[in-house]
Formats: sequence, C-alpha cells, structure tokens
Amino acid sequence: MTLLEDAKNGRITDEMRKVAREEGVTDEFVRRGMAAGHIVIPISPYRKVKVCGIGEGLRTKVNASVGTSSDIIDIDMEVEKVRQAERAGADTIMELSTGGDFAEIRRRVVEATPLSVGSVPLYQAFIEAARKDGAVVHMKEDDLFRITAEQAKLGTNFMAIHTGINRETMKRLKNQGRHGGLVSRGGAFMTAWMLHNEKENPLYSEFDYLVEILKEHEVTLSMGNGMRAGAIHDATDRAAIQELLINAELADQAHAAGVQVIVEGPGHVPIDEIEANVVLQKRVSNRKPFYMLGPIVTDIAPGYDDRVAAIGAAISSSHGADFICYVTPAEHLALPTPEEVYEGVISTRIAAHVGDMVKLKKRDADLEMGHARRALDWERQFQVAINPERAKAIRAERMPGDSDTCTMCGDYCAIKIVNRYFAF
Ligand code: SF4
Repeated sequence: MTLLEDAKNGRITDEMRKVAREEGVTDEFVRRGMAAGHIVIPISPYRKVKVCGIGEGLRTKVNASVGTSSDIIDIDMEVEKVRQAERAGADTIMELSTGGDFAEIRRRVVEATPLSVGSVPLYQAFIEAARKDGAVVHMKEDDLFRITAEQAKLGTNFMAIHTGINRETMKRLKNQGRHGGLVSRGGAFMTAWMLHNEKENPLYSEFDYLVEILKEHEVTLSMGNGMRAGAIHDATDRAAIQELLINAELADQAHAAGVQVIVEGPGHVPIDEIEANVVLQKRVSNRKPFYMLGPIVTDIAPGYDDRVAAIGAAISSSHGADFICYVTPAEHLALPTPEEVYEGVISTRIAAHVGDMVKLKKRDADLEMGHARRALDWERQFQVAINPERAKAIRAERMPGDSDTCTMCGDYCAIKIVNRYFAF
C-alpha cells in the first residue's frame, strides 16, 4: 500500500505526523490534504529521507537543481553543490545530470543528502541513445520505462516526467509560433523524437504503464513542463495551456491509482500574468501541488536571474504556488558553481517566505525581527535572519564605535534616540 493509499484509507503514518509537527498543523489536516491530492510527501522504499510536505496549507518549499552538463563533468563539484544547497536551507534536490555516468552521479548525490531527491529520467534515456546510436531521436521507448524503474531503485523520491506533450500540444505550438522557442530540455528531446519518428509521446500513450512503475517504486510524479517558454512574451500561450490541461487530467488519473502528483508550471512569466497562471493551474488540476520555476519576470537581467526569479517566486507563492525551483545567478549563462547554488537557494528562500507571509499569514519571524531591531539586540536579529552568517559578517566587517548601533547612522542612530525618549 502506498502512502497515498494509507491517507485515502484514513491511516495517519509517521511521515504525515512529522510533516504536521513541522508545519504546525494537525495530523488530520495532512492526511486529508494527501487523500484529496492537495499535499504530497515524496518518500522512497529504497532510502530513508527527511520528509518534506509540499502543498496547500504548508510552507512553500524550495528545490535546488544540481547536475553535470556535457561540458562540465565533475561529480565532486556536484556533491559540493548539494552540500551548499543544504547549507542554504533547500528543502529538496533535483539531480539533472546530462553528462558522465548517470548511475554513479545519482548514487553519489543520493548518498550525500538526507533530502528528497528528484530526477528527470528521460534525460538519461535520450542521452544514452545519442551516445549509442548517434542521435536522441533513436531512443527506444522501452528504455524510457526501464530507466524510470532503475532511477527509482537508486532512491529517487520524485520524478519530472513530460507526459503532457502529445500531438495536440505540438499542433498548438506549431500553429502559434514563439518568440523565444522552448527551453525545456525534456520538451526539446521529446518533440524532436515525436517529429522524427512520427509517433505519439510514449509517456502519454502508455501513461497507465508509467503509473504502474511509479506506484510499484512509490515515486511522486511531477508532471513536467515540456512546453516551458524561454521568453516572457510567450507566457501563458496556447501550447502551455494545452499541456497544462493534459497534465491536469493525467494527474487525476495518477492520483486515483495511488500515485502522489505535483504539476509543474512555467518559468518565464510577466508579473501581471503570474496570478492567472496559479489560479488556472489550481483550478484545472483540482488543487494539486504547484511547482513553479520562479518565474523569471524579465528577460534582460542575465547575471541576476536569482533575484529576477525571486520576484516572481514571491508573487507566485503568495497566490498559491507550493514548490519553487530555485534559479541561480548563472541561469542562461553557464552551469552554476557551488557558490551560485548557495546564492540561488537563499534568494528563493527569501521569496518563498515573502509568499508565505501572504498565503499563510506567516509573519511571526518578521515581528520578532522588528522587536529585536527596536531593542538593538543584534544576537536576536541574527537568530531570526534567513542567512545569519551573511548578516553577522557584514556587521563584523564594519563595527561602529558604539556597539549598540551600526555604522549606518552611528551616533545618530534613530532607534537609540527614540528609545531614550519613548517607552514603546
Ligand atoms: S544606526 Fe541607523 S541603521 Fe543602524 S540600527 Fe541604528 S537606526 Fe538602524
């Protein structure tokens, strides 16, 4: 019996209890949320993980993606990225390697972290076909399913699977055209394969078989966003909506079969379309957990895309997005370094918190910080800070003569002056 089936049968498990305790909600709230498909807890029969609840009524979670590319294959560096992501407070890791020995990288990453780990099995299937037979279009359908099972056995907790790209989606994409094309690697591989082979996407046409595999290995299905646009001018277009509708229908089927499901959303969206994207996804998917990549809200700030995506993530989370994939400052430019991974997670955690201040009215920490600042209590301020290390380091570098204050206003510290005359 899967965790979801336990929830549907009214059984509260240890995982549900742990999530309830961490989130400050009741066990029954988590169980009901899971049974209805509004909450997931990715687990694995092959590995004990630090459980993490994702979905309605819970804190917005942050994912950090790591993984090699065909140009940079350094497993130690990827493991270091996992450490930095964890140090920065990421909730989950996605291992998205496209270069090197896939099984070895996955094994090292999974060993390096207690967090839930996600993957995209079709990367391996397509890239191994390219290595063996010269092009991704020679991928064998059976390999997709075999690799999905193999990755599950390595302790993968959730998988992004591009089920929503089918002939209808492709027709929408072709008819409307795009300004910035399509930036999902999985989407690109699958569309090329479908056009070359003149066949339907096997992840769509054999969805029942896919669900059987995921259920057997208790993998949470993250319905991949294969039509992900790479330019804000293509946001919310017909191809994206078509894929969302297909994924939403399949998500219900998977949930009914006992598989936990997340639905992925877009990555480039202007601010005034974010709310519509969240409301639409929640409505058509029957409130499945929504996984957003930021979104990035302007295309003209390469080098700062962690901040650009954090603006979008704060808004998407405030409207109900449950799970945010981080973006690093290296986005659109290069494979990130461990330092950039750290920066990306911190930026996204800030955004997730800002969203939760609206979505969940979670403002206790901000109140605490306000009081600590009024009291000029620096230790308390560091304790509440999202990144105490950075706050401490900046202050320590430029200490004032009067250690109560800081070098911003020094002797003329407004707080100190007001505290002398007002007893708040
Ligand atoms: S010196 Fe200025 S910035 Fe620093 S704590 Fe006082 S009021 Fe705030």
